[in-house]
Amino acid sequence: MIIDVHTHAPRFRDRVPPELVAATANTKWSPHGIRPTVYTWAEYDAAMTPVDRAICFNIAQAPPPARQITESYLGPAAQVNDETAAFVRAHPDKYIGFLSVHPDDPAAIEEIERGTGDLGLRGIKLGLNYQNVDPLSENAFRIYAYAEAHRLPMLFHQGTSPVQFADLDYAHPRHMDRIATALPELRVIMAHIGHPYYLDTICVVRKHPHVYTDISGAVLRPWGFYQAMCAAMEWGVLDKLLFASDFPASTPAETLRLLHAVNDAAPGPKALRIPKEAIEAIVHRDSLPLLGLD
Ligand SMILES: [Zn+2]
Repeated sequence: MIIDVHTHAPRFRDRVPPELVAATANTKWSPHGIRPTVYTWAEYDAAMTPVDRAICFNIAQAPPPARQITESYLGPAAQVNDETAAFVRAHPDKYIGFLSVHPDDPAAIEEIERGTGDLGLRGIKLGLNYQNVDPLSENAFRIYAYAEAHRLPMLFHQGTSPVQFADLDYAHPRHMDRIATALPELRVIMAHIGHPYYLDTICVVRKHPHVYTDISGAVLRPWGFYQAMCAAMEWGVLDKLLFASDFPASTPAETLRLLHAVNDAAPGPKALRIPKEAIEAIVHRDSLPLLGLD
C-alpha cells in the first residue's frame, strides 16, 4: 500500500490568467524542468497510478478585497472545495479530499462545516505564505483549534517557495512548535520536510507525537534531501516521514525514484547511508491512521 498524502487538484486554464501560468511554470519550482500548473483531472488520475490512496486539495485565496499573492493553485474557498469534493466523491476508494479556507475570512468556520459536512472532506490544507497569513495570528489559531476539536488533520506548506511575495517566515517550520504545544491533539503534516529548513522541521516533529512531515518536493534536490534524511536518521525521526509527491511539482513515480536514489548523493564510501528498510518503510507507511483518517 502506497499513500500520497500531498497532491494538488487541478486549476483550470479558463480560470488561470495566461501570465500567471507563464510566471509559475518555470524551473524555479523544480531543477528537473518545467512543471505544469494547469492540467485536467484525467491527467491527475493518471499520475496517481503508482499509489493506492492520495490526499487531494487546493488552497483558498483571501476573500476580496485583500491583495492576492499570485499563485495559480489558489482559488475562492467554496470553488476549490466543491471541485475537490466532486472528484473525490467519484473515486471514494482511492482519493481523500481536504478542504481549504482562508483564516482571515469571517466565514471560514462555516466553510469548514460545509466542507466536512455536505462535501465529505476530511482535513484542512493551508499554505499560509501564499495566503499571506501569520501562522501565529488569532485568526489562524481559530482554524487550528476547530481542527483539533473536530479531529481534522491539517497539512501546512512549509519551507521555501519561489513565489516572490510569499513570505518565507509565514511558512517557517519553527512556528509549528508553538501551534503543536498549544494544541497537542492536532494531527499535523508539515510539508516538504520544511526544505531547506529541515533541521527546524526535525526539531518540531521529534517532540510532538502527532506532528509528521512529508518528503514531497525535498526529493527534487538530491544533496539537500540526502542531508535531510541523514539528519532525520541521526535524530531518530525517520518514522515521522510520510510519502508524498506534491503533484504537480513532482509525481509519485518521480518521487519514488528519487527516494530510492537518496544514497547516490552520499559523498564517499564512509558517508552515512539510509538503510533500505527505512526507505521502504517510508514508501509503504500507513499514514492514514496516524492522521486519524482510518
Ligand atoms: Zn503542495
